Amino acid sequence: MTKTRKAQYGVGAATAPAKTSKSTRNRRPAEEKLAELKRRLHEIDDLTAAGAALGWDQATYMPIGGAGARGRQRAALSRLTHEKSADSTLGKLIDELEPYAATLPYDSNEASLIRIARRDFERAIKVPSDHVARASAFGAESYEVWKRARPANDFATMLPFLQRGIDLGREYADFFAPYHHVADPLIDDADEGMTAASVRRLFAALRADLVPMVDSITEQSEEDHRRLGYFGESAQLAFCLSVIKRIGYDFQRGRLDKTVHPFCTRLSAGDVRITTRVFENDLTQALFSSLHEAGHALYEQSVDPVLEGTPLGRGASVGVHESQSRLWENVVGRSRGFWEYFYPLLQRTFPGQFDRVRLDTFYRAINKVERSLIRTEADEVTYNLHILLRFELELKMLEGTLRAKDLPEAWRAGMDSYVGVVPPDDRDGCLQDVHWFSGIMGGGFQSYTIGNILSAQFYAAAMKAHPNIPKEIAAGEFEPLHSWLRENLYRHGRKFKPSELVRRVTGEQMNTGPYLSYLRAKYAGRIRA
Ligand code: ZN
Repeated sequence: MTKTRKAQYGVGAATAPAKTSKSTRNRRPAEEKLAELKRRLHEIDDLTAAGAALGWDQATYMPIGGAGARGRQRAALSRLTHEKSADSTLGKLIDELEPYAATLPYDSNEASLIRIARRDFERAIKVPSDHVARASAFGAESYEVWKRARPANDFATMLPFLQRGIDLGREYADFFAPYHHVADPLIDDADEGMTAASVRRLFAALRADLVPMVDSITEQSEEDHRRLGYFGESAQLAFCLSVIKRIGYDFQRGRLDKTVHPFCTRLSAGDVRITTRVFENDLTQALFSSLHEAGHALYEQSVDPVLEGTPLGRGASVGVHESQSRLWENVVGRSRGFWEYFYPLLQRTFPGQFDRVRLDTFYRAINKVERSLIRTEADEVTYNLHILLRFELELKMLEGTLRAKDLPEAWRAGMDSYVGVVPPDDRDGCLQDVHWFSGIMGGGFQSYTIGNILSAQFYAAAMKAHPNIPKEIAAGEFEPLHSWLRENLYRHGRKFKPSELVRRVTGEQMNTGPYLSYLRAKYAGRIRA
């Protein structure tokens, strides 16, 4: 399809001079319209960034007294952004530009811009601005309450917020009716092209392979105990800074701050910020969340600068984004070679604390496979089981087959059957993730497992091109991998649908093969035949 269009364009331009001059005459207004489209989209992008700055501030430095006003401010900005996104003049402009787009190669920046602008516009006009503003104000308020309710193990306080999130999720889905499953429009928002049914199929196949793997590995790793000690906050942060700088995070175009639930936010191509949280009795929290968010940021910092300010100037989808956070956090950051390089620095950062811990022991400790309660701390093998449970519960809450008040009980039963442990309370149970308590319900979790699957697929493609990557990592050389990802994946931003991008980068469609091979190879010594 792409090739045909390219060829037609080339042939037409070369062999039909009369046509060329006519199309040149028509191109001028098209170019003016394109400039006008870019101006409008840039404005939407600026407003989105302003909203993101308010969100970043709320999650980092804002005093508690600012919460009420911040909710209103974010709602006002969301409404304004949405009104601009659904403006009929914008729609008319896109209509007028489509014949022009058809003359351009499919993968050109201009054709891609017009195509993605069309998708965003079609979605925006279905949703009333009032809903967007209400959802935004609700999300900010709910997040503030959750921040206190979770440590207090107070599900009762969150129940009305949970219910409201479910109601808003259904309300949102109904703007896209008819749908097959109520979660479909919400899933499509995060991972374009996926549905409740297709994710369920993917996850069922993955679960069938993971459950026996988890059974086999966890039974044998009882002797590996997580090493705890005291690790001062400033030393931890200094170590995190050194690590993420070395892998390529650009501090001229970003910064690292502390928060409750770590995230990455893009204010512009020149300002991609990440956050972490530090536990002084657990080294792994700050380290791996920093690596995770730095993975997101490497992607955002490497999108082709010419796409800046347009809807193409960011990652392709939430799942593709998670593939990069999980790639840097796990495939790279929990690899043996990575620690061959960084372990001496870790030992110097915490003098005396690792003197008697061999690299192998440390490597096994950070890769210990165990049935645990907290998703964000889960190992690579059990992690997806946490996601599969959340995905099923989310579908049921949206369907109405699970009532909000019954979530804690369903959570305990689900943890028992999916992961094999039961939380003692809601704090480490259904209240643990921010997702259900900071906005509308739906489409919030499947991307993590899609990301894991894709992380291995993209890494396998990089390894095929550069088999030396593991050796380079062990030597502290991250640029070869980073530049392969930049060239093949990052620079495209949101030009392609996730499925198109995966095929372009790997030559295949998304599949669990490389991910399962990766896990089997990594844990080979621990899997019973
Ligand atoms: Zn992430």
